[in-house]
Amino acid sequence: MHVPKEHPRYVSLLYREKIAEGVRKGITAVEGIAAHGRGETFDYILGEKSHDFALEAERAAVALILTSKHPVISVNGNVAALIPEEIVKLSETLNAILEVNIFHFSEERVRKIKEEIEACGGKILADLDAELKGLKSARRKVSSKGIYKADTVLVPLEDGDRCEILRLHGKKVITIDLNPLSRTSRMADITIVDNLIRAVPNMIEMGEKMQNYSEKELREILESYDNRRVLSASIKRIRDYLTEMAERVLEGG
Ligand code: ATP
Ligand code: MG
Repeated sequence: MHVPKEHPRYVSLLYREKIAEGVRKGITAVEGIAAHGRGETFDYILGEKSHDFALEAERAAVALILTSKHPVISVNGNVAALIPEEIVKLSETLNAILEVNIFHFSEERVRKIKEEIEACGGKILADLDAELKGLKSARRKVSSKGIYKADTVLVPLEDGDRCEILRLHGKKVITIDLNPLSRTSRMADITIVDNLIRAVPNMIEMGEKMQNYSEKELREILESYDNRRVLSASIKRIRDYLTEMAERVLEGG
């Protein structure tokens, strides 16, 4: 489908089309469309921009990845459909390994996600030869060279269950989730309430600068970071946005 640039919802429609294309190519699960739609809704009531609380969480996430020994970025069908090039760039900038990890498992989809990432010049682990104990969903299948031994995992669009298990296994979890009320958001060590399509490019830019920071500077960023405050600020931002909109409607705007 051709999306005309002048359309007021151009960006949103463009990424909706990328998800649809991901499903057609066998990269994204049909359920991924529903997850994306939930994301769109929260983005709408957040004003579709990266707020201060998101930038703060993105900075802390970059600091955590740069100070980790074995950081891994988990890639699912939505990530591979929406921002394959950017996720490769992020992994290179932050020196983090990419690993395919999907909720609705099929070997074919794992292979297609791998091929999509490789077509963008990236390397990705897809030999899911180990298991995260305590988890029933396919998300338990991980690579022994990746998530299994990771100290930090970035899981864009995670489900709450695995987030909890990853933490039980002693890993630090960073999530990108537009829904600040989700179990994932409340469970993670660092919650980035922002759209994947903005958060990842922001983190690439931050990573390019922060690569040159000392270990001490990075640790200071992490010590002053408070995820509960950031999460609370994002929920209040939704409340304030809705209040502003309600006033505007009253004024006839
Ligand atoms: P839980 O409460 O267990 O975390 P959930 O119902 O949130 O579960 P899913 O529906 O699988 O679990 O999660 C999809 C999440 O991803 C939703 O919260 C949605 O807001 C978020 N999401 C979807 N698309 C994007 C995107 N492009 N950027 C950021 N977040 C997104
Ligand atoms: Mg979730």
